[in-house]
Amino acid sequence: MSGTPVPLLDLAREHRALEGEIRAAIEGVLARSAFVGGDEVRGFESEFGAYCGARHCIGVANGTDALVLALRALGIGPGDAVLTVPFTFLASVEAIDLAGGTPVFCDIDPDDYTIDIDSAEKIFRQRPIKAVIPVHLYGQPARMEELTALARRYGAAVVEDAAQAQGARLRLAGGWARAGALGDIACFSFYPTKNLGALGDAGAVTTNDDALAEKVRLLHDHGQAGKYRHILRAATNSRLDGIQAAVLRLKLTRLEATNARRRQLAAQYDEAFAGLSLTAPHTRANAEHVYHQYVVRFAARERVQASLAAEGVNTAIHYPLPVHLQEAYRSLGYGAGSFPVSERSSAEVLSLPLFPTLRAEEVERVVQAVRRAVG
Ligand SMILES: *Cc1c(COP(=O)(O)O)cnc(C)c1O
Repeated sequence: MSGTPVPLLDLAREHRALEGEIRAAIEGVLARSAFVGGDEVRGFESEFGAYCGARHCIGVANGTDALVLALRALGIGPGDAVLTVPFTFLASVEAIDLAGGTPVFCDIDPDDYTIDIDSAEKIFRQRPIKAVIPVHLYGQPARMEELTALARRYGAAVVEDAAQAQGARLRLAGGWARAGALGDIACFSFYPTKNLGALGDAGAVTTNDDALAEKVRLLHDHGQAGKYRHILRAATNSRLDGIQAAVLRLKLTRLEATNARRRQLAAQYDEAFAGLSLTAPHTRANAEHVYHQYVVRFAARERVQASLAAEGVNTAIHYPLPVHLQEAYRSLGYGAGSFPVSERSSAEVLSLPLFPTLRAEEVERVVQAVRRAVG
């Protein structure tokens, strides 16, 4: 209604201020012809690893491959059950299949949408679980202290799906720690829309475990221990390319600032929505959320979304159908009602526009539109 729509995300706007530097970074790669691997990739690996507080970082082709490689490095294969949540982007589950394992689900916490510890514990008691994949959904780390303690008791590895949580932190007994250093191994996507996004597909695996890092390094490059010396059969090719690494290095220098801006925008929404009949995001006291998405929930979600759309406010649903109810995963045998919190979340969540270059007048339009929608 009032002027141009408020976008959910405007990548062109996000990139405009960086355009000169992005071009220079790309030209640098072009001048050196370091298209796959090379200095920029090594530089990014060392900088992103250090940023996360992880001793090792291996750049890979995308976030899905990061998960598959992490699981393969852990030795997951046929017959191995891997526990995760159905309320996530499908790749968290697909990766388990691609590694040859069997996906097993538990439910999520109704307040923060990350893995529910009691629900996970129920599964651990029922059957052997080789690894668990907590998803730091929307940018808030899962309850890693409790989950790690639980996984340790049952001898399972913890694989972070940190695709939505670059830079997010948790306060642990030893102080603040970042996503990427909260489990045994962690997986990142740098898909263009993520908080740290490339200009195409890209991903990374981080870990503090030397042996796992070595295994991922071998697996992501044809099992090569040295040039043309292959020591692993059927590894794969999942390398990060130089242009993406150069752009990611540049954007990594801005990540703290852009995440801080996201938190500031989220605080504005939180304040404006206080007292309205909607459920705002819940950030745990020991967590630093990076608001990959700002997600509210409404019992009458479809009506609210239509009303916002009519006022030119673009929104999205992450995610409209939990994985256990997807046609692709029907054969796992979970029916409707298996994971009530995930199912209800899918029916009620709505992602509002929130990205670092969102303008004050756009925030105001979103706030007013939400106020009118919930009456
Ligand atoms: C984006 C995403 C992935 C997959 O990353 P790709 O780079 O698209 O392969 C995995 N898990 C979650 C939670 C994601 O958001």
